[in-house]
Amino acid sequence: MTKAAIELKDITKEFNGNQVLKGINGEIDEGQVLAIIGPSGSGKSTLLRAVNQLAAPSSGSVVFEGQDLTKAGKQSLNHLGEKIGMVFQSFNLFPNHTVLDNVTLGPRRVKKLSDEQANQEAMHYLKQVGMAEKANAYPDSLSGGQKQRVAIARALAMQPKVLFFDEPTSALDPENVGEVLKVIQQLASEKMTMVIVTHEMHFAKQVADKIWFMDDGQIVEENDAESLFSHPKEEKTKHFIEQVL
Ligand code: ADP
Ligand code: MG
Repeated sequence: MTKAAIELKDITKEFNGNQVLKGINGEIDEGQVLAIIGPSGSGKSTLLRAVNQLAAPSSGSVVFEGQDLTKAGKQSLNHLGEKIGMVFQSFNLFPNHTVLDNVTLGPRRVKKLSDEQANQEAMHYLKQVGMAEKANAYPDSLSGGQKQRVAIARALAMQPKVLFFDEPTSALDPENVGEVLKVIQQLASEKMTMVIVTHEMHFAKQVADKIWFMDDGQIVEENDAESLFSHPKEEKTKHFIEQVL
């Protein structure tokens, strides 16, 4: 039996009367990888942002560690929010800070770690993603793949319970994709709870325990990777997979 790390109940999101999420229900399971696939504009990024409260849902609830995040006060929301890490397509590193500082900033400011403790922990995570030797480099001197690995180290340094990735390889040159996927694969083997929005279908098939196919603000189909790709139940899923595989 899997245990839900996060439960989503009837989540909707509207922008100016336009309903972008139309009632999302599901569970993000502890120690597992959920991949979200679907056409551009189907609401994948909006869903991640609604769940981690970067842009709160219009209605519905997000239950994390026994608390409904949509009803949590600001202070407990900040606290819970720190436990959901996020890695973006565009890295979002601070260009005027070194790699090391990018990783230590959060732990120093938010977790109030001493510089020494923060540096020590940051080096551990930079090693984990193979970027320790670039600790004193600035983001501009790195390849996209290296930047993304630093962004992953930065997220890990906050010791999140759950890690969200929004198309982590979409902005990369093809030759940089593999090194980032390898880091994510490694985290999966260590049973990190992750949600990955991706267009890398072969990767999704390999790494995901569960897949959601989203279209038009809804989860059209949920299944394990093998079933979803080999025996899609819904016409829409079949059509999408034929186009992207
Ligand atoms: P995906 O990540 O699957 O490509 P998004 O979640 O980015 O899809 O977008 C889903 C829909 O919501 C799109 O039609 C997009 O234009 C709309 N949308 C997303 N963010 C906003 C926003 N801040 N304001 C207005 N519309 C938005
Ligand atoms: Mg998106």
